[in-house]
Amino acid sequence: MDWSSCIICGGRKGEPLKCPVDSPHEDCEQVYKVFLQNVEQFKEFDALPVNLKIGPEVIFELLVKCRASWHKSCHLKFSNSKLEREKNKRKSDDYQDETLTTFDSYVENVFIPFQSSKRVDIVWDTYKASSVKDSTREKRGSDQRRK
Ligand SMILES: [Zn+2]
Repeated sequence: MDWSSCIICGGRKGEPLKCPVDSPHEDCEQVYKVFLQNVEQFKEFDALPVNLKIGPEVIFELLVKCRASWHKSCHLKFSNSKLEREKNKRKSDDYQDETLTTFDSYVENVFIPFQSSKRVDIVWDTYKASSVKDSTREKRGSDQRRK
């Protein structure tokens, strides 16, 4: 591994290389950690923006130690906002694949996976006027008037 070139594209040309260790404004450990986390996420999505020069064995301590640097434009490809966009893309894809039309399929696909207890309380947010109590009260009321 050549630590004097961009750890993302492997190149050295173009814009000057940036090293988070040199930046007084950033917590370089945090910058490397976030970068590696995002790389993992992109891998999970099978959506790596570039062929990475560093392998999965690289940990942030190594990056700090070797003062790993990158082109700003290369690093930007792994930014949180790019990752967020990738997540959203997948989310909308998923929903297009599954049509959750019936209550049954909703329960099966969405509700059950997220709930761990056996007991379920369902609360309606609309009040039904035709409840038993009401109709009983109405009957009583009219009876009294008749007397
Ligand atoms: Zn680069």
